[in-house]
Amino acid sequence: MGIQGSGKGTQAKLLARDFELEHISVGDVFRWNVQHHTKLGAQVRRTMASGRLVDDDLVESVVRDRLTAHDWNYGFIIDGFPRNARQAEFFLEGYDIDGVINLHLPDEEVQRRVLSRRVCSQCGVDYNLMAHRPARADTCDVCGGALVAREDDNPEALARRVAEYHEQTRPLIEIFERKEYVATIDASASVDEVQAAIRARFDLAAPAEHA
Ligand SMILES: [Zn+2]
Repeated sequence: MGIQGSGKGTQAKLLARDFELEHISVGDVFRWNVQHHTKLGAQVRRTMASGRLVDDDLVESVVRDRLTAHDWNYGFIIDGFPRNARQAEFFLEGYDIDGVINLHLPDEEVQRRVLSRRVCSQCGVDYNLMAHRPARADTCDVCGGALVAREDDNPEALARRVAEYHEQTRPLIEIFERKEYVATIDASASVDEVQAAIRARFDLAAPAEHA
């Protein structure tokens, strides 16, 4: 669990890579549907443009479908779910959860990170004006397309999402704290430091060297 900009997708991928876990990202499923202009994609696009979070029921049905694929023999790491108390209970009853990683990021840092994101208007490559700058300002390194902010990355929409996130997440964390092992990790450090902190908390081997 972690707010936008906390790097939860990146951290999940690193864990999935080294521990043969299936990475299930609700955001990726939605993005795929937006890019491929499906009916679900159109619904998601409208919601995001208004700066709101996608409806809980929609998220839940997407996750249920995804988990029935059973391509996760060694387990899975999921991000973007659960989002409310009911979903958390469903999850606890149906699956054997080893732990909950709660990536903590102060609101000012969320603003700073999210509002510096850019995406290529032509090929869709992501840029971050703090970490991954394009060689030429406002221009995609790959295709030369113009870089733009995502439709939903403006201060007003973001402030709404941050408030909604905290409101929704607090009761969830409480449920998991009662029943499971919640590791709250400071996400303002570097990707490698955050990953190392997660592994230390769960007694996992340190990251292997990847050339
Ligand atoms: Zn491009």
